[in-house]
Amino acid sequence: MSDQVTRKIKILFAATEAVPFVKTGGLGDVAGSLPRSLNAAGAECSVILPKYASIPEEYQEKMTHIADFYVPLAWRSVYCGIEKLTYQGVDFYFVDNEAYFKRDGIYGYYDDGERFAFFSKAICEAIEKLPELQCDVLHCNDWQTALATVFLREFYQGSEACRHVKTVFTVHNVKFQGQYNDKVLEDVLGLADNPTASSQLYNGYGTIDYMKGALCYSDVITTVSPSYANELQMPFYGEGLDDIFRRRSLQLRGILNGIDTDLWNPATDKLIESNYDEDSLDRKAQDKAALQRELGLAEDPARPLIVMIGRLTNQKGLGLVRYAMNHLMERGTQVAILGTGDKDQEDAFKYFDWTYGDQMVARIAFDNALSHRMYAGGDILLMPSEFEPCGLSQMIAMRYGTLPVVRETGGLQDSVVAYNKYTGEGTGFRFTNMNADEMANCVLDACEVFWTDKDAWIKLQRQAMETDFSWSRAAGTYMDMYHSLHPEIGR
Ligand code: ADP
Repeated sequence: MSDQVTRKIKILFAATEAVPFVKTGGLGDVAGSLPRSLNAAGAECSVILPKYASIPEEYQEKMTHIADFYVPLAWRSVYCGIEKLTYQGVDFYFVDNEAYFKRDGIYGYYDDGERFAFFSKAICEAIEKLPELQCDVLHCNDWQTALATVFLREFYQGSEACRHVKTVFTVHNVKFQGQYNDKVLEDVLGLADNPTASSQLYNGYGTIDYMKGALCYSDVITTVSPSYANELQMPFYGEGLDDIFRRRSLQLRGILNGIDTDLWNPATDKLIESNYDEDSLDRKAQDKAALQRELGLAEDPARPLIVMIGRLTNQKGLGLVRYAMNHLMERGTQVAILGTGDKDQEDAFKYFDWTYGDQMVARIAFDNALSHRMYAGGDILLMPSEFEPCGLSQMIAMRYGTLPVVRETGGLQDSVVAYNKYTGEGTGFRFTNMNADEMANCVLDACEVFWTDKDAWIKLQRQAMETDFSWSRAAGTYMDMYHSLHPEIGR
């Protein structure tokens, strides 16, 4: 192309959590590692986040105040400071407004609809006003930043800096859409007299749906695995937005997340008992023994140790585990669960812990160091999710040679290769239906290999550990997508 310019493509990654500043789930991991990998792949990617009070002091005190301005939000004019911190080569910008963000925790307030509308508008203002924040692509994530794609198009097309910007919106979990009473159209968004925007934001049930706005307005929609991209187009998974995902299926792409392979590395992990790699798998036995001792389980190498690490919510298929628990115990397995979540789930697993003595343990806590020891010490990771946009736990488990047993959905289906007993192929075990007996049979199939065919088991562990789950694979795909939005920018 003759008028192509060759320079780094500029990406502004907008999110409401990022490791190491603030994390409640997978989005925090993604926003903390993908931008670094994009920069390594030739982009100039920076991140914009709210400045929460809960960001550790060690980071807050290193931030530099670079600008302040006022953000128009319907009838309001709201103060916005911009602070900057460069961390591991990535520029992080923090939107400062104490009334909205100087609170305990990060989500769950009565005015979240207003707080994150402000954040989204502040992003657009910052792109317009600050030359260093001007970008080629604004990449928004989940409902909290969804409105930036709408505002950019509705309020900022007169601005040279904004007109050029293409938008990408990534769905990390369609369960959370940001739905509010339609009064927000006038009172917060300032879009009541804009019939196009209003109709795109209305979800058909009398409410305004921030995520729906982004699905209509973004140039490209992505989600975190190819299978979830297909599932989103089905009523069972689409949470009322499946028709829009179908309508925009040509702009919808699924790109499997990666994991931080330096942080999660059994060969160098300082938090585990004994380091090992695919050629020294015998040392993993020491991690198992140490974990059994730590958790009060019988120290027995012959019992398959099944671990589960994650939020204790219905999404994770815990009903199946509860139903099958007795059966699994009778067959002599051990089960160790680490997680927090819904009270009824926590209570159910505490009950099992109490009932099955040294065969079952439930740790109701968020404990990063223990999670490392469980990934290293387990034999099997069980993840029978009802739906799973991507899932990181199964990828981490495979990196530690802990074989996953998963339901075939979303990212679980895309990251775990089913064991084939005839060829020896595979990196784990899979079952199809939300059925407790089917799940238990699949777990017991895995145990059968563990008990009777050590060579096949070790081969599976090696194959799992050798799978590439690094971010560099995903970063390349994101780069192709960004460049397809700006063909005038050469690499
Ligand atoms: P989701 O994003 O749905 O919560 P993922 O599997 O994508 O699930 O990511 C969960 C991440 O959080 C993993 O890194 C997992 O190890 C970690 N995690 C979840 N619960 C806990 C816990 N109770 N203690 C320590 N780490 C946890």
